Amino acid sequence: AALPAGTQAPPPTPHVFSDPAEIGALRRNLLAWYDRCKRDLPWRTLAATEPDADRRAYAVWVSEIMLQQTQVATVIDYYNRWMQKWPTLQALAKASLEEVNELWAGLGYYSRGKRLQEAAKKVVSELAGRMPRTAEDLQKLLPGVGRYTAGAIASISYGQATGVVDGNVIRVLCRLRCIGADSSSPAVIDQLWDMANALVDRSRPGDFNQALMELGATVCVPKAPLCRECPVKQHCRAWRRKLFGKPTPVPDVEDCGVGGCPLCPPAMEPWDSSLGVTNFPRKAAKKQPRVARTATCVLERRGCHGAPEYLIVQRPSSGLLAGLWEFPSLPLDQDLQEEKQREALADHLRAWTGWPVVAGGLRFVGEVVHIFSHIHQTYVVYSLPLDGDVTLDPALTPSRWVTEEEFHASAVSTAMKKV
Ligand code: SF4
Repeated sequence: AALPAGTQAPPPTPHVFSDPAEIGALRRNLLAWYDRCKRDLPWRTLAATEPDADRRAYAVWVSEIMLQQTQVATVIDYYNRWMQKWPTLQALAKASLEEVNELWAGLGYYSRGKRLQEAAKKVVSELAGRMPRTAEDLQKLLPGVGRYTAGAIASISYGQATGVVDGNVIRVLCRLRCIGADSSSPAVIDQLWDMANALVDRSRPGDFNQALMELGATVCVPKAPLCRECPVKQHCRAWRRKLFGKPTPVPDVEDCGVGGCPLCPPAMEPWDSSLGVTNFPRKAAKKQPRVARTATCVLERRGCHGAPEYLIVQRPSSGLLAGLWEFPSLPLDQDLQEEKQREALADHLRAWTGWPVVAGGLRFVGEVVHIFSHIHQTYVVYSLPLDGDVTLDPALTPSRWVTEEEFHASAVSTAMKKV
């Protein structure tokens, strides 16, 4: 029968959980596994033991922001130092951006730290220091908090029965229900949020969400998932399909069997039995990163105790690596020849330091490649020893001389440390 205007057809049954008994069993199996196998992580301990809801929410929030794009193993140390330095929202709201950048140095995606601090200020000044108490309000009121982070904070800190969808959850759910359409498309993402909200355990939502993510991080991993050890394999349609092979030409419950299913793998790239469960999820081809070249110069002088010092300058307060420090650098045109790029850099340094820098005085040191999320950046590195002082015009750009040790303690990016 035709659907009323404005309503969408329900997803075909192989791609959803429709049996309440199966949902109950999946929750129990997943939570029992989580209780046995979960990793001990500092934010989990805090969320489980801290009686104050605002402090719990703050602790989970910090961990979630750090964990976006960064591995758990790397985050732990940063997290502990952060919480030691700023144990509460109020403490963070008083911090300077410089301090935040210094602590964040090396973690990447620097705007995360900046936004966290701005949002903390907002909670203190506009919300009387009280964290919003639902996922909806967290997302609405806190800058930098998206649907995922809001759901994670609300479920883990407040016990709100709301699901979460991150990269790990996408992988697990797509495999559980053989969803092979582009997993970054809005239609699939909406479907996965509905599924996550339907599955989340009502009495232990925070644990359930963490269990699902943990399963994706440790068992249902991208390349070689450990299906035999998986606590939810009996609910997994990808696993069943791998075991029993290609479905028969007569469609059965394991396959939509109808062309044009919006959640099945596209007809052009059907199930490939050599891939097994890793047929899912599928993603549209990624955009190629932009290729960029930057000339950078390490200016060196003898400091007052004879130890070498290096000049670093601060980047603008917005854009890529906002507010971080770097060696004086100059973006280069793509196909500039070596000689020309050296001249361009010399001109730049001359204008900027007032010193009679000549291209021939710049020593070529080597090239450093660093991949930012969307930029394939090559730094062409030169050095220039100076035997006198340089006075820089502070109106042009903030700068300072640092020893090697001071350099490493400054708010500098990983790319600059490589340089
Ligand atoms: Fe992932 Fe395999 Fe478990 Fe399915 S059975 S959820 S593919 S680990």
